[in-house]
Amino acid sequence: MRPGASHSFASRFGLAFLSSAFLLSVPAFPQASDVPAITPGGVVGASSYLSAVPPGGIAAVFGNFLLSSPASASSTPLPTHLSQLSMQFDGGQAVPLFYASSGQVNIQIPWELAGRSRAMLTVTVNGQTSAPQAIDLVAYAPGIFTANSQGSGQGAILDLSSRLVDSSNPATAGSSIVVIYCNGLGAVTNPPASGSAALVNPLSETVITPAVSIGGAPAEVLFAGLVPGLVGEYQINARVPAGSATGDAVPVTISVGGYISNTAAIAVKAPPAQMNSDTRADSLLAQMTQAEKLQFVHGAGGPVTNIIPLPRGAGGYIPGIPRLGIPALYFVDGSTGVADTSAPATALPSSIASAASWDLGMAYKFGSVIGAEMRAYGLNVNLGGNVNLTGREPRDGRTFETKGEDPILAGKITAAHIRALQNQHVVGGIKHYALNDQETGRFTADVRVEERAARESDLLAFEIGVKDSNVQSVMCSYNLVNGVYACQNQFLLTDVLKRDWGFKGFVMSDWWATHSTASAAMAGLDQEQPDNAFFGSLGQAIQSGQVPQSRLDDMVHRILRAMFESGLFDFPESLSGVDTGTGQAIAQAAEEQGAVLLKNAGAQLPLNASTIHSIAVIGSHANLGVLSGGGSAQVWPTGGPILTEGYPNPPGWSQVIWDPSSPLSAIQSRAPQAAVRFDDGTIQSRAAIVASQNEVAIVFVSQWDSEGMDQPSLNFTDVIHSAPINQDALVAAVAAANPHTIVVLENGGAQVMPWLGNVSAVLEAWFPGQRGGDAIANLLFGVVNPSGKLPMTFPASVSDLPHPTIATPPNSITPFQVNYSEGFNVGYKWSDANNLTPLFPFGFGLSYTTFSLSNATLVNNLRPGNPNFQVTFDLQNTGTVAGAEVAQVYLGLPASTGEPPRRLVGWQKVFLQPGALQHITVRVDQNDSSHPMGYWDVGSNSWQTAPGDYTVYLGNSSAMASLTVAGTLHVGP
Ligand code: BGC
Repeated sequence: MRPGASHSFASRFGLAFLSSAFLLSVPAFPQASDVPAITPGGVVGASSYLSAVPPGGIAAVFGNFLLSSPASASSTPLPTHLSQLSMQFDGGQAVPLFYASSGQVNIQIPWELAGRSRAMLTVTVNGQTSAPQAIDLVAYAPGIFTANSQGSGQGAILDLSSRLVDSSNPATAGSSIVVIYCNGLGAVTNPPASGSAALVNPLSETVITPAVSIGGAPAEVLFAGLVPGLVGEYQINARVPAGSATGDAVPVTISVGGYISNTAAIAVKAPPAQMNSDTRADSLLAQMTQAEKLQFVHGAGGPVTNIIPLPRGAGGYIPGIPRLGIPALYFVDGSTGVADTSAPATALPSSIASAASWDLGMAYKFGSVIGAEMRAYGLNVNLGGNVNLTGREPRDGRTFETKGEDPILAGKITAAHIRALQNQHVVGGIKHYALNDQETGRFTADVRVEERAARESDLLAFEIGVKDSNVQSVMCSYNLVNGVYACQNQFLLTDVLKRDWGFKGFVMSDWWATHSTASAAMAGLDQEQPDNAFFGSLGQAIQSGQVPQSRLDDMVHRILRAMFESGLFDFPESLSGVDTGTGQAIAQAAEEQGAVLLKNAGAQLPLNASTIHSIAVIGSHANLGVLSGGGSAQVWPTGGPILTEGYPNPPGWSQVIWDPSSPLSAIQSRAPQAAVRFDDGTIQSRAAIVASQNEVAIVFVSQWDSEGMDQPSLNFTDVIHSAPINQDALVAAVAAANPHTIVVLENGGAQVMPWLGNVSAVLEAWFPGQRGGDAIANLLFGVVNPSGKLPMTFPASVSDLPHPTIATPPNSITPFQVNYSEGFNVGYKWSDANNLTPLFPFGFGLSYTTFSLSNATLVNNLRPGNPNFQVTFDLQNTGTVAGAEVAQVYLGLPASTGEPPRRLVGWQKVFLQPGALQHITVRVDQNDSSHPMGYWDVGSNSWQTAPGDYTVYLGNSSAMASLTVAGTLHVGP
C-alpha cells in the first residue's frame, strides 16, 4: 500500500505553515529577566488547537524563550536542542523540536508519554530552566490541518497527484481518493522512535481506524497512519463517498475514539452522467449479437466445453469480447486469500478469525489484500464471501470460511471484505445462497425451514451482506430449500434477493449446481458455472418460447452492469507481482486481532520473556508452521507450504497444507535466553516427560477442516494421519505432567475441550495464516494483548446442539430432508432459549487487562423518520496494560413476538491505554439492513416492529452473566 501524496505536503503545508499560523496568535507575555517561561495553558495541538494533546503528534508551545532569532530543525531524527533551547517532560524526557523562536516552539509530544493523562513540561534556555507547566494528555485529539488559525476553511487535503482539492481541482463524488493531512490520531502500529521519521515499510498505521465524514456522508478509509518519512504527522486516504454533498466548500471531519475534529472544506463535484452502470451496460448490450450474449451466461470450463486447465489458474472463465472492449472474466475463490491453483498468494488467517476481531476496519484491510492480489494476477471475479451461519451445524467442514453464527456480525464483516475487494476493481461475491450449512450430502440436502425463521437468520446475513456492500455477484448453493434446488429457486433468487432486497448484480451457480435450463433461467439464475451443461441450450429455449428474450437480456445486463459497477472497464487490468510485504503485515495484524484468549487461570499468560527459563512446545508441527483449511478456499501460501500431508487420505478433497510460519522459532525469538524444546506429540508419554522438564508446556492441537467433509464430532480429531494422534489424551497427559500447560488451538470452528479444567490457559488461534507463528508468539508473550471475541458459541457437548446427529443422505442422488426445527434459534439464541450453558458463549474473549463498563444510559430517539436509539456508557481500561474491548449491545424483543431472549444489535471495539476512560455511544438504527428491532411478518411480507417493551443489554459477551440492563424502550401505546 502506498499512502501517496506525502512529500509534497511537507513543502506545501509543512512546518512553515504551522509556525506562521501560530505566530499570528502569539499572546502578549510579560518579559522576565533571563529565565525562560511557558505560558500557562500555552501548549496546543497543531491543527486541533486544543490544549489537551496526544502523544506522538505535533504541538505548539507559547512562552518567552529569550531567543534573538528563530531556528528550525534541518533533518530527522529531530534534534532535542535548537539554538541553546531544549525542553523536557517531567524533568527528564527529552522533547523533539521542529522550530524555536522567542515566542513559540513547535514540538513532537514524545510517544513515551502514551497512556499518561498529565505531564510536566519545562524549557531550558542557556542553562536556565523555566517553572514546570502541567500539560493534559489525551489518546486522541484529531485535527485537520487548515489554512487559518481558527482551524476551519480550506483543508490541507490533496488528491493523489498532490494537488490541493479546491474549486480549481474538485474531487468527484463516489470515486476520488483524497489525502487528508491531520494530527492527533493516536497510537500506531510500527511506531517510530520519538523524533524519528515514520517508516515507509512497514507503514505506521493507526491502531483505531478513524471515521471520516465528507459532505455529510461516511467516507471509506483506505489508509490511516503516519505520513511516511515525516515526524508525527498523520494522513488519511479516503474515498469521497457517492452520497457526499457537492459544492466548493464541502465539510470534512474526522472522528476517532469518540473525539471529533475541526471542520475543513474541500470542493466536490457530482460524477459525470455516463458513470451510471445501467446506462453503460444497456448501450453495450444493444451492440451484442445473440451468440455473444449467450457466451456470457455460462462458464467456458468443465467437462462440456472442456477448456481445461482454465487460463491464469482460475476456477471459472468466460472469454471477453474484444470487438466491444468487454474484458474476459476470471473467477477465483478467495475467502482467506486468493485461492488460485497456479499463483501463490498471502495466506490470511481464516475468515472466521476476521469475524472474531469484531473490527470492521481490520476486516476491510483483510478484504483489500485479497482484492489487490487478485488484481495483480489478473483475476477479476471473487468467489469468496461465504456467509452461511455456523450455528446450524457447527461440525460443518467449511466453518473456517464463514463469519460465525450471528447474522449481523457475519453480514457486516462479509460486507467489509466485499467492499474492500470491490474497491480494488474486482467483482465481489457472496455465497452460498442459501442455507448451505453442512457438507454431508451437500448436493442433495433439502433444508426445510419456515420463512420467518429463514428471513431472521441465514437470509438476514445475506441481506446485510448484499445491502451493505453493493456486492455484484451472488452464488446460489448446491442444496435444496423447501423442496427446490437453490439455483432454480424462484423464492430465493427472484422474490427475496432481486425483488425484496433490490439486488442488481448477477446470480451464478455454484460449480455444477445448475439442474435445468428454462426453470433455472426463469427462477432467476443469471449464469451457469463452470460450464454450459444447461445454459448451452438457452438459445433453443428462447427460440421455442420457454424463456423470453427479455430474460436473456436481463441476465447479460446484470453481468455487464456488475463489471461496470466494480470498475472492470474503467480500471483495465495491469498484471504485476503481488505485494507480499503488505499482505503479510495485514495477515499478522488480522490474526493478532482475531485470536481469542479463552482461559487464563492464575494469569498464566502473558509469558515473561525476561524470567522464563525453559519452554516445551508440543504437537501440530509447531516446529514448522501452522495449519490451513482445505477445499476450494485453500490458499497456496507465498513461499510455498512448509509441509503438505495426507493426500489422498483426508476425507475432504484437497491436500493438507501447513503454512510456513513456525510457532517454535517465533517463541524462541521472543525468549532468546530460554531453552525451548520441541516434541511432535505423537507419543504421549514422551511428550509428558518433555513437558515435565520445562517451566511451561505449550501444546498445539489442531483440527483440519475442509470443504467436502464435516467433523465427526466437536472433539479435536486427527483426520489427517493414518495413525491418528489422540490430541485430547495428549493434552491430558501433558497437563498431568506440568501444571503450567497452555493450549493453542488451530481449527475452524467450535470445539469441546474435555481437558479444559486441567490446563492453565487456552488461546484460540483459528487457522492463523502464514504469519500465524509470529502472531501467536506475540500474543503468548503479551507483545500484543488478545482482543478477539468468539463469533460462535462453543457448546458444552454435541448433545446440546439443535441436531446432535448430522442428517445423512440415503444415497448420492436422492434429496433428503434436513429439518431446521430450531427455527430462528441459531447459535447463542438456541442456548439462551433452551437455558443451556455453553463451554464458551458467543462474544466471549479474555484480555491481559481488565475493563469496566459503567454509567450506561439509553437515549430513545424512536420516532418516525429517524428511528434509532443510542446506548451511551463509559468504558475504562482498569488494568495495567493497553488493550481493546468489544462492548456489545443486545436487545430483547417483547415476549409477544416469540423471539429468542436476546439478539446482538450493535458493538464497538475500543482500544484503551491503561487507566484511560472513554465515553462511547453505540447507535442502533431501526432502518439498518440488520432490522435490529424487527420481526419478519409473513402475512404482510415485510419487517414489522411489535408494540411492547424492548430491553437493551450491554456487556462483553452474549451470556446473561456478563450483561447489564442499559434500559428499556417502549413501542406503541
Ligand atoms: C464450492 C464453491 C467454490 C466453487 C469454485 C465449489 O465446490 O462449493 O464455494 O466457489 O467450488 O471453486
